[in-house]
Formats: sequence, C-alpha cells, structure tokens
Amino acid sequence: MTEKINMTTQEDHLLDGLVWLIRLRWIAIAGILITVLITAWILNIKLLVVQIYAIAFIFFIFNIIFLYRLNILKKASSKSIRALNFQAHFQISIDLVCLTALLHFTAGIENPFIFYYIFHVIIASILLEQREAFFQITFAVILFLGVSYGECFGLIKHHSLGLNSPFALYNNKIYVFGLSIVFISTLYISSYMAASISKKLRKREQSLRDANRLLKEKETIKSRYVLKVTHDIKEDLAAIYGCIEPVITGIIGTLIEPQETMLKRAQRRSKFLIRYVNDLLVVTNMKLTKNLKSIKFSIPQIVTDVSDHILEHADKKNISYEVEIDSGIDEIEGIPESIKQALINLLMNAIKYTPDSGKISLNVQQKNKSVLIKIKDNGVGIPKNSLPKIFDEFYRVENSKLNDAQGSGLGLAIVKQIAQMHGGNVHVESEVDVGSTFYLEIPYNFKRQDIT
Ligand code: ADP
Repeated sequence: MTEKINMTTQEDHLLDGLVWLIRLRWIAIAGILITVLITAWILNIKLLVVQIYAIAFIFFIFNIIFLYRLNILKKASSKSIRALNFQAHFQISIDLVCLTALLHFTAGIENPFIFYYIFHVIIASILLEQREAFFQITFAVILFLGVSYGECFGLIKHHSLGLNSPFALYNNKIYVFGLSIVFISTLYISSYMAASISKKLRKREQSLRDANRLLKEKETIKSRYVLKVTHDIKEDLAAIYGCIEPVITGIIGTLIEPQETMLKRAQRRSKFLIRYVNDLLVVTNMKLTKNLKSIKFSIPQIVTDVSDHILEHADKKNISYEVEIDSGIDEIEGIPESIKQALINLLMNAIKYTPDSGKISLNVQQKNKSVLIKIKDNGVGIPKNSLPKIFDEFYRVENSKLNDAQGSGLGLAIVKQIAQMHGGNVHVESEVDVGSTFYLEIPYNFKRQDIT
C-alpha cells in the first residue's frame, strides 16, 4: 500500500516537473530572441544570427514534441515511471545539446553564458534520482569539454564575437584547463547540493502525506463509531417518544396537572434529542458517504418546496417571508435533498434567531458559473468574535436575547459540508441587533469534493 503511494507521488512529482520544464523552455526561447536582438542590433556585437535563430527554431520544434508526448502520457490511465524518466532524460539531453550548440556559435568558452549549464544540472538533480542525474551532469561535462578543447586544439572552428580583444582565451591552454576544473567541480557540487535539498523536501512531503492519510483513516474510524452509537440511541429515543405520546393524549388514562406538566417537559426534551441525534447522523453520514449520485434539478422548484415548509414556522412568529429568484435561474447539477436540507437549516435559523414580527428573505441570483442563494434576516445578529466559528461542529453563540432557542450547534456545520461537497462555499455577514445574511454559493456543474 505504502509502496503504491510512494510510486504515485514520484510519478506526480516527475510529471509536474516536466510540465514546468516545458514552460521554462518557452521563456528560454523568448530569452534567446531578446538577447540576440540586444547584442546584435543594440550593442553591435557580431553574431551568427542565422545559426542562433536556427537553433532556437529547433528548440521550439522539440518543445512542441515534448508537449505532445507529455499530453499523451498525462492521458494514459496508468503513468509509467519509466516512460516519464525517459521523457526527463530526453528533454534534458536536448536542452544540453542546444545550449552547447548556441555556445559554440557564440565564442564558446569565452561566452559568459557558459555557466548556464548549472541551471540544467539543478533541473536534472531535482527531477531525477541522484544516480540518473549524475549521467546527465557527466553528459554536460562531455559536451563542455568537447567544445572548449575542440576549439582550443583547432578541431572545431572558433566563432569569435568580434570584440577586438587583444587576448584570445579559447586557445589559451592554461586558461581552458583552469576554467574546466572550476566549471566541472561547480557542476558536480551544485548537483549534489540540489539533489540533497530536493531529497529532504521529498521525504518531508511524503511524511506529510502519510500523516494526512493516517488522520483521514482515524477520522473515518471515529465517524463510523459515532454513526453506530447515534443510530442505537436514535432507536431508543424514538421508542421513548412513542411511549410518552399516548400517555399525554390521555388514551391510557386521565392525568393530573403536575403529571401532565412533567410529561410535556419530557416530551419536549426527547423531541429535541431526536432532532439533535438526527443532525449528528446527517453530519457523520456525509463524511462517510463517498459515492454520491448527482442529478440535474430545478432550483426554483426546491425553493418552492422549502418555502411551503418554512411558511408554517414563520407564521407562528408572525415573521414575514419574501422570495425572489432572478429570471434565467433554472437547473443545476447536484444532490437536491442536500441542497434542500441546507436551505431549511439556514431558513429555520433565520426564524429561530429573529424575534416575533421580524422579516426574512431568500434571494437567488446568478454569479459566474454558480448560483448564489442569499438568506437575510433582521434578527439578533452574531457577535464579531463568533463569526469565524459558527460553521464549526457543535459551536453555539450565547444569544442572550434568545437564549431559549434550542439547538445542536450542527445546523451550520451541515450547511458547510453540503456547500463543500458541491464544490461551493458558504459565508455570513452579520451585525448584532441588525441581522444576518448567509450566502450559499453552489456551482452549476457538480464536482464531488472532499469534506473537511
Ligand atoms: P444551532 O442548532 O445552535 O442553531 P447552528 O449550527 O445552526 O446551530 O448555528 C450555530 C450558531 O450560529 C447558533 O447557535 C446561533 O447562535 C448562530 N446563528 C445561526 N444562524 C443565525 C442567525 N440567522 N442569526 C443569528 N445567529 C445565528
């Protein structure tokens, strides 16, 4: 299992690196063109422009080939590490050959850009295993020695930049030897340093991934445990509630006043507990359910269904309820039951935390590729310091004015989970004694996201 995860990480790392390399290459090609423009036409330095542009063009063609090959590899269902490694070697080798050719046509060892080999060494050391990177660095050294000693001993032509310098360095054997020593040692030392840092970072990344996976596993075990306990409690609670009902209604016999009062209190409490346990079941179930099936459904229809349910509660407190849906809003993709649940939770809260004769409203509008549902009330509001915590599980604000409002502290956590699950989000703006507005944003196209 761990082995498989390690492999996937390594492949992802290599794939990301190759994508990055292709992007860098476009910048390098632009860099070559700009440098030629500046050197040849502004600084008036004699350059073999045709040869340099030809190399830049070949470089460009190769980058298109790399991009094409990489897209094929990306689409493959299982990415083979060998194919990716081959790609990395191929790309780095072509880069080194092109750089060497460019340097050869621009004064070879006398060109200060000779140190650009270091970039390729660092790239190879980050992307490849240390042993494999060593091959590329040795290839870079061979190319460097080929150009510098080839020009030094007259085996290949030296192309000077025509700077009218009295000193020619390319055929100065002591200079070429000294530079080779410094240059080669710099390449190997840079490679060793880059590879060591990259190895440490990769190890740390891997241990973070492992820790994260372990945390998720523990969270799943905890959720399963909560689900089981909650389920058992719910059944017993429902049975208790079922026993109280016939006694209160007097079917079994007439009750005296204190008995009725006590039983009504017990009924109220068990009703609250059933709701609490239900909320807990919803939260836990959502964390455990992986394969949810999404469908297309009408948002106006869901709003109508929810409103029918809400109106009855709003009427009891003489609260006015307004609905406004922008024209053009129709179907979205998602889980209708969950969206319904989120709207009910938000609207029930609005009613619960708004005093009698208050005002609540629901507004649906389009926002980019999402629908934005705004639920506004003119209730007690939420203190500023509680705002960042109200979507946390079990968090409840001490509402001094409505402290008889019962709740589990799970309603908003459920809304947040539903928003996350749809790839959307929820947030709130609120002011104490003025009211609150909750914003629920759901994308038109459903893309299942993990719940945190
Ligand atoms: P609860 O079951 O306590 O209502 P929620 O998770 O739904 O739990 O809400 C968390 C807390 O956020 C509530 O205890 C309440 O203090 C505050 N809250 C939620 N909605 C509103 C609202 N519309 N107006 C004022 N306070 C609210």
